[in-house]
Amino acid sequence: MKPNKLIHRMGFGMWVSFTLLAAGIALLFWIVLGTSLKVGYQNETVRELDRVAWTAAATYGEPDFKTNLKFISGGENYFVQIVSEQGMELLLSLDNQGEDARVQAEGIIPRELFSLLDKNGGCYRYRVEDAVRNVEWAVIAIVIANWEGSREVLIFSKSLANVDYLIHLLSTRVIFALVVVLAIASVLSLIITKRFSGPMDRLTEKARLLARGNYQVDFPKKGCYEVQQLSETLEIAASEFQATEELRREFIANVSHDMKTPLTVIKMYAEMIQTVSGENPVKREEHLQRILSETEKLTGFINDTMELARLQSKTWEVKKEYFNLTQLIRAVVDSLGVHQELDGFVIEFEVEEELMVYADRKMIGRVLENFISNAIKFSIDTKRIHIKSRQEGSYVRTSVRDYGTGICADQLPFIWKRYYKVDPYGTNKTGTGIGLHIVKEIMEMHGGRYGVDSRLNQGSSFWFYLCEREERGNGSANWQA
Ligand code: ADP
Repeated sequence: MKPNKLIHRMGFGMWVSFTLLAAGIALLFWIVLGTSLKVGYQNETVRELDRVAWTAAATYGEPDFKTNLKFISGGENYFVQIVSEQGMELLLSLDNQGEDARVQAEGIIPRELFSLLDKNGGCYRYRVEDAVRNVEWAVIAIVIANWEGSREVLIFSKSLANVDYLIHLLSTRVIFALVVVLAIASVLSLIITKRFSGPMDRLTEKARLLARGNYQVDFPKKGCYEVQQLSETLEIAASEFQATEELRREFIANVSHDMKTPLTVIKMYAEMIQTVSGENPVKREEHLQRILSETEKLTGFINDTMELARLQSKTWEVKKEYFNLTQLIRAVVDSLGVHQELDGFVIEFEVEEELMVYADRKMIGRVLENFISNAIKFSIDTKRIHIKSRQEGSYVRTSVRDYGTGICADQLPFIWKRYYKVDPYGTNKTGTGIGLHIVKEIMEMHGGRYGVDSRLNQGSSFWFYLCEREERGNGSANWQA
């Protein structure tokens, strides 16, 4: 489905939701009106009729009975009749003002009224249908006197037309409100859809550019919170893509350069052996030596690159264990002695015996290897390397100090970057420029502090801290100094 269509469907969905909500509320209102409100209102009317009728009945016989009616009715539209049992004679027919009034509706006084009163203990409540006006009347009949064996009955009645009128009035209002709500819902959903779909359309357009490889796209910041969030996320994704792309380019450039140079040299010396030095054992040995050293460089480069790739793809996981750091330092120095020309080098140890740390042994071995081999590489006249390791609280600080080229202050912050290498003395010993970056990744994975103190011409001291216990130093704090 095209994104545009989706957005329009979202707008439509919003409109449908609004409309359904409005219709639901109206329906609920309708049901409440039609049932509970109507019934409640009628019951209340009947209760009030009861109260007024009994109050009026109590004042019957008093001289100002008619005047009292006016006050008792409180302005409500009651119709009052008094009927004698003797021939069902209508003695009085009054309105709520106590004034004479003509009979309001047929059937208010049923023929069998007195027998019904007998059955109901002298008070009978009933409803009468007024077919002419199509309304109902609520009626209460109370025996108020017995004059020589002929009872007199007070009949209070009230039309329930008001209730129906009220319900009708409210219903029309509800329909009107429903129409208004629907109109508002339509306008609202239109506005919201427009507000939402505008930035979404722009975002989609920009996302398409990003998909085509344009990482410089500027994502729109306007719109609702969600759109802004999406925009920010896409911006992060774009910068990540860009970084990866730059890395890829940089990697290809470096790989091709770093691999090409030794390969060219190897090829050249192999040809020389073939054509020139084949018969000359001294020359041949020299050329073979060169081929071997270039092959070593190439192997080193490939190993470094693969290690970095493993670290970055997180396939090289930190496997922490307790191990003897002192032993590891000596083992690394020994292993380098096998592979490096250490002629004339003095390696001084100032290492406490049996220093235990909790870290990934292999990774820390890699850090030490890098620090020590760099110290060897960048030493010129003073071939002295000082390795120091000591307990500092619950941490173990290890440093590798050399008295070689040193690093100038403005380059210090960059040496941990990938492929960064400087060779101020023209030692021609720089390698891939990956080593210190691998150190950085490893130390950050350990959450351990690391750094370098260096001065040009005076040498460098590379150092790192490790935790001696499991619970400390497991954080991800970057402690680079
Ligand atoms: P490489 O040693 O392969 O060039 P590294 O990442 O190990 O790459 O080091 C990056 C750069 O940091 C080196 O090229 C060098 O300029 C500088 N550097 C590292 N260690 C030392 C050191 N002990 N003395 C002087 N410079 C160093």
